[in-house]
Amino acid sequence: MAALEIRGISKSYGRTPVLRGIDLSVEAGELMFLLGPSGCGKSTLLRIVAGLIRQDAGTVILGGCDVSALPPESRNTPMVFQNYALWPHLNVAENIEFGLRIRKLPQAEIRKTVGEMLEVVGMSEFAKRKVNELSGGQQQRVALARALALKGDILLLDEPLSNLDARLRDLMRLEIRRICKERGLTALYVTHDRREALSVGDRIAVMKDGVVFQLDAPRTLYCRPANRFTASFLGDADFMEAKCLRIESENGCAVFDTPLGELRVHLDGQPVQPAPDAVCTLMVRPEAVRVNPGDSATNAFPCIVRDSVFLGETTGLTLDASGFTLHASESAAPERRIGDTVTCAVPPESVAILPPEKDR
Ligand code: ADP
Repeated sequence: MAALEIRGISKSYGRTPVLRGIDLSVEAGELMFLLGPSGCGKSTLLRIVAGLIRQDAGTVILGGCDVSALPPESRNTPMVFQNYALWPHLNVAENIEFGLRIRKLPQAEIRKTVGEMLEVVGMSEFAKRKVNELSGGQQQRVALARALALKGDILLLDEPLSNLDARLRDLMRLEIRRICKERGLTALYVTHDRREALSVGDRIAVMKDGVVFQLDAPRTLYCRPANRFTASFLGDADFMEAKCLRIESENGCAVFDTPLGELRVHLDGQPVQPAPDAVCTLMVRPEAVRVNPGDSATNAFPCIVRDSVFLGETTGLTLDASGFTLHASESAAPERRIGDTVTCAVPPESVAILPPEKDR
């Protein structure tokens, strides 16, 4: 049985549809992400699960019970908000206690839970500190502890890290994953930050315009996107139209006629399995492009370096491959000069096959 089941959820504001028949199932212990551009309906869906917004159609099933008509206080769905939503006049411990008191739990149990949650988020020494005397990162830890203390059926997180600076965000997202996994929590997590979703999520539902475009594990979505929107939203990529020339069953590849010349592409795990003569879109990510890979490389073609941008860990190259603009991202590579001729190659397993433009 799924911990959370969302069936056919639709919602409009006035005449504008925001969610269009969303189906989604979250397994117990799973960290499910809703990822998509601003305005695609992620927060609305999360709030419908919490009971803060009422759907126009569809059902929300939590732990096997239909909670669609229940008010938020009758659902066990604690939530962590982007702006923390802490009580400024209360100290850290009192903020965490607040929800437990409303539930009228025995004092001893409240004290034990607060102590435990402070420890989980590494804030034990700040128990008596007023929350407005804390940094943003510390406030977010308190907000997380407060939600964890309620021991919900599912933890809901709405852009919990977007008010933190980049370094702290990286740290906190790993910590959230660690805490959720150590405690076996089920969570539904909203973000527009692909790195957050890729690094923390067990699965990601990629949303656009109120629909789920693709739902899968991070690596699958990144390496084998089923559509161009998912491919672009999860990272930089070049796309090219290509015609399938033949299938080579002996090495599990399809051979395509492409702007880069003939390319062999592994068929393993591809959402599209092409037949000869089929026109497809191929996707190549910049970090998959090998520059000067050596004589034995498959899928090699000549390029001219048009631009080179040093970014520290990597260097971004813009390449001209017989008139096609291709991007490469190199790490620990020698300096390339504009106008240099190089040989590039794309390994057959690193190219994704997408449906042609008109099917998207
Ligand atoms: P996301 O979380 O993906 O950024 P939201 O779920 O917050 O998106 O919003 C989806 C769409 O619904 C947006 O276009 C937003 O402007 C609109 N919207 C959200 N809340 C309301 C509201 N209370 N009244 C009217 N429109 C709303």
